[in-house]
Amino acid sequence: MKVLVTGGSGLVGKHLQDILPNGNYIASKPWDLLNPDRVNDLLYIFQPDVVVHLAARVGGIMDNITYPVEYLEENTLMNTNLLRACHEYDVDKVIAMGSTCMYPDVLDEYPMKEEELFNGAPPPDNFAYAMSKRVMAAQIDSYVKEYKRDWSYLIPCNLYGEHDKYEEHHSHFVSALIKKIKEATDSLEIWGTGKPLRQFMYAGDLARVIKYVIENNIKGNYNVAPDYVHSIEEITKIGMESCGKGDLEITYDGTKPDGQYRKDVDSSKILSVMKDFEFTSLGDGIAKVYDDYCERYA
Ligand code: NAP
Repeated sequence: MKVLVTGGSGLVGKHLQDILPNGNYIASKPWDLLNPDRVNDLLYIFQPDVVVHLAARVGGIMDNITYPVEYLEENTLMNTNLLRACHEYDVDKVIAMGSTCMYPDVLDEYPMKEEELFNGAPPPDNFAYAMSKRVMAAQIDSYVKEYKRDWSYLIPCNLYGEHDKYEEHHSHFVSALIKKIKEATDSLEIWGTGKPLRQFMYAGDLARVIKYVIENNIKGNYNVAPDYVHSIEEITKIGMESCGKGDLEITYDGTKPDGQYRKDVDSSKILSVMKDFEFTSLGDGIAKVYDDYCERYA
């Protein structure tokens, strides 16, 4: 089985490559998915049986607020070019990545289930990114409906892991936190009030789910997130404790946005398929990534 992975140089791509080394992992150079001719060449050259589509413009909350046009256009173009080419080259299986920020900004009940994906507008701060993911979901669902394709998408929560990027515009909360914990001497500042609730998953866990979906030919679309949800403040405390710096004082920058209050999703559908799957605990995951960060940036 020939597996092609877009976004192979990213956080999830590198974790997947660690456990599924025989695939072809590609990055934007030389394979720019914004260019339909390059995408056509890509499929022609690799002739994959399975495409794992991870490539996307991904970034932190301020970058999403500043560049909504780029988030919407680049992601929609990449997804459209790739899915069209996969159809043309008759790719059996496509597994693409959604994100829990595609879900409605506010729902009556949490955690959110797959069938509630389109029951309201996504949050304003990453509306453009979320809409590009919703269009991708609609594209995949349409190929399944019209052409009976065995294509699907996973909807992971926020991620962190050893291969994440730590530049401010790009980094997500836990990676930024790890960097702050390393640099802090007596206090550590977090954005907003610390009250929003979040799920964070170790990227290696998502890679294990993708591998399982490929190897067991799992069909359908699934949320993927650990079953715990913590406030940003609690996550900060867990992070500090697990990095051996539990005595740091937490301060709050009230000028920065909190973002959505909660967006936790229900993973019971994927766990009914992967019955023995266990997510890495937040404390263990952060400790692992912190050790790696300290080694890399000593
Ligand atoms: P990432 O670390 O930011 O990596 C992005 C990947 O996309 C890189 O390999 C990048 O290649 C590639 N890419 C960007 N623009 C491209 C282009 N024009 N042509 C070809 N490739 C391009 O992303 P990630 O965190 O691994 O995320 C993987 C997937 O999971 C994404 O679809 C994302 O939306 C989704 N997701 C991520 C999170 C999270 O917290 N990180 C949460 C939920 C869902 P270069 O290295 O060459 O730029």
